[in-house]
Amino acid sequence: MIVIGAGPSGLRAAGRLAAAGLDVRVLEKKSRVGANVVCTGIVGNEVFDDFGLDRGPVIEELRTVRLVSPFSTVLTYEHPRPFACVVDREKFDNALADAAVSAGAAVACDARVDGISIGRGGVEVTVRDGQGGVSRQAAAVAILATGVDFGLQKKIGLATPRDFLRGAQVEASLPGRGTTTLFFGRDVAPGAFAWSVPAGEGKARVGLLTKKDPKARLRKLLDAHFDGCPGTGEEASIRTKPVAQGLLSGTFGDRVLAVGEAAGQTKTTTGGGISYGLTCADLAADVILECFGRSSFGAADLAEYERRWKGLLQKEIVVGYYTRRMCARLSDGRIESLFHLAQTDGIVPIIREKADFDWHSGLIFALLQRLSFMKIFRDVKDRLGPVGLS
Ligand SMILES: Cc1cc2nc3c(=O)[nH]c(=O)nc-3n(C[C@H](O)[C@H](O)[C@H](O)COP(=O)(O)OP(=O)(O)OC[C@H]3O[C@@H](n4cnc5c(N)ncnc54)[C@H](O)[C@@H]3O)c2cc1C
Repeated sequence: MIVIGAGPSGLRAAGRLAAAGLDVRVLEKKSRVGANVVCTGIVGNEVFDDFGLDRGPVIEELRTVRLVSPFSTVLTYEHPRPFACVVDREKFDNALADAAVSAGAAVACDARVDGISIGRGGVEVTVRDGQGGVSRQAAAVAILATGVDFGLQKKIGLATPRDFLRGAQVEASLPGRGTTTLFFGRDVAPGAFAWSVPAGEGKARVGLLTKKDPKARLRKLLDAHFDGCPGTGEEASIRTKPVAQGLLSGTFGDRVLAVGEAAGQTKTTTGGGISYGLTCADLAADVILECFGRSSFGAADLAEYERRWKGLLQKEIVVGYYTRRMCARLSDGRIESLFHLAQTDGIVPIIREKADFDWHSGLIFALLQRLSFMKIFRDVKDRLGPVGLS
């Protein structure tokens, strides 16, 4: 087995496959696992139990969220218990790498896969090392877990996302910013939202997702709400990265499948992708092990992987995508109305009952049943057309 990409999705799949006795190599283009990841690192608390992960990389637990409207109305929501936590992504990814290595996988860094070809007898990849040396490696099956780097998928005709949000984030020393805060509004982050999330030791991660100009938008947010963001040097530099959006079909082929953000397995509401990636890595490993059991690795065998992951995630991805696009069309006035509605119309109890960090469609459907809520989305909803779940 070759796994291309040592992010959470690739490392999880590698660990599962190695634990089942397969010979697994992970090839990562960066010089070390988890280096320079652009991510806020928020995961639901269940992730640790669900995937048997150690809580060592946790730096903050989240229980309270402040929501700031376009006209500076502030809502504070306190969940009955911590619902999520912020992890150090480098430590988180390295814990997954350690688990994969303990299970018998080999993880090679400075190993960029430049080419991939699929023949009747197997998959062959071209690997370029840190010194420019080139080698070829072969395997029965390859997993593409390359995040938002879609070059290899394009080479072999696998599907790639067509829609993206643009992310920007800075981590800086911001004492007194210990409460997670979300900012909404067309002037702040058109198409999505902005955030400030505590990152331990008086630091915060301030970022946003939007349709374009994420860096300029983030600078504006920092000026407006964070005194321009103190701190200099690398720590305070803004980093950008896209987030894949929308449901993908065609995440498998002969002897190959894509997992994680490479397969568009991200929450279309918030852009989070760690937990869906881990979930789908497990499904990928299950299906690949079944294929090894039959010694049959054709597209028809691996199609089962897409059937399973869509069975779990399709509704979430489609409903979330539609909802986020509806919200993106709201004027600042209507967003403000939503804030007022939340204070007066029994919305908070619905959130308390239905909110789940990773599964959002239940809450969305419950909110959309409120007439007052639907009124805010009138005509916006009609212009987007019906949502297709099939
Ligand atoms: C600003 C921002 C904030 C975010 N915050 C959160 C959050 O709070 N919570 C959350 O769940 N998600 C968040 N995300 C999304 C999250 O970071 C991704 O969904 C997640 O990292 C996807 O994991 P992955 O393993 O699929 O891919 P990645 O983590 O992107 O890993 C892919 C790996 O493949 C390697 N690679 C790529 N091409 C090659 C190649 N040709 N050869 C070898 N190696 C290769 C890359 O170097 C990388 O290490 C955020 C994203 C952004 C942009």
